[in-house]
Amino acid sequence: MKTAVVTGGAGFIGSHLCEVLIEKGNRVICVDNLVTGSKLNISHLLKRKSFRFVKHDITKPLKVKGQVDRIFNLASPASPKDFSRIPVEIMMTNSLGTKNMLDLAVEKKAMFLETSTSEVYGQPLEHPQKETYLGNVNTIGERSCYDESKRFAEALVYSYARKTGIETRTARIFNTYGPRMGLDDGRVTPNFIMQALEGKLLTIYGNGKQTRSFCFVTDMVAGLIALMESDYSKPVNLGNPHEMTVKEFAEAVLKISKSKSSLSFTKLPEDDPARRKPDISLAKKKLGWAPKVGLEEGLAKTIEWFKQQNS
Ligand code: NAD
Ligand code: UDP
Repeated sequence: MKTAVVTGGAGFIGSHLCEVLIEKGNRVICVDNLVTGSKLNISHLLKRKSFRFVKHDITKPLKVKGQVDRIFNLASPASPKDFSRIPVEIMMTNSLGTKNMLDLAVEKKAMFLETSTSEVYGQPLEHPQKETYLGNVNTIGERSCYDESKRFAEALVYSYARKTGIETRTARIFNTYGPRMGLDDGRVTPNFIMQALEGKLLTIYGNGKQTRSFCFVTDMVAGLIALMESDYSKPVNLGNPHEMTVKEFAEAVLKISKSKSSLSFTKLPEDDPARRKPDISLAKKKLGWAPKVGLEEGLAKTIEWFKQQNS
């Protein structure tokens, strides 16, 4: 039985990861300060003997008794809505917080996985994005608190690996969606689904021609575990390469939810990436991983979950 620390474990992706790690027979210590996560996401796990929740802010050092074998570092707000609400907290979490978790990895001789992001590519000038692309990030824009602190986190991870010899993994996660995204999270999936279910206008930012590639959360969790257990230590893109415009995504939400809502168009936020699609050849080659859940199936499951929360 291995012990895994999952920071951000009460969040959207983190709670699904905790669940699968427990199903696979691991002990899980979920560490979260609940800034964007919720105990409701892990309420079904709290009674399991192999699961422990620790309310803790990772910008403070963490003491853990006993052996730790794996650290999955997912703590960080990830919605653009939070970039203007709590920018300094985001920067401290991804810098000092990541350092504290790397120190724990050194102390425990644990393997460490950082959840980086497609945002390290910024407004990408290469399409689709490969791991070798160095990015095009505005260092002073509204998204910079997130983009630059995730870039710093990557640099920190590789500095620790070189200096201390710990084993590290880096996942560059692309847009992921599914049940347990906060209803008021502000990202496109919860916004469109809630608007569709409540008969409101779906708020498209800009003309809706910008693209994203949406990955269902179970595929993402499988990718994160495969990466941790692989012997590949450089950054790996994880995401679904099925690219679509935001307008097409809104239309898919309307169709699958059978909503009679319409679309509205408002201002595009600063530095909103125009195109985003992962090149996942490396993940296929090194991890034998590719997403399995198509958009219709994933959206249907997500909409069903939002309906239950909203009833
Ligand atoms: P989320 O907001 O649902 O989860 C993040 C969790 O981290 C929350 O539970 C929050 O309370 C916790 N947290 C934040 N700051 C903390 C701190 N200082 N100490 C302890 N806990 C803290 O978001 P998510 O979508 O599940 O994202 C999880 C990770 O994946 C994040 O690191 C994010 O940057 C990364 N990521 C997500 C996506 C995506 O599309 N969902 C894309 C790229 C990268
Ligand atoms: N978006 C939108 N309406 C919304 C929320 C988001 O049109 O209500 C757009 C946003 O401008 C971006 C895309 O949807 O182009 C994805 O946004 P999200 O906030 O989910 O994440 P991002 O990929 O920008 O980090």
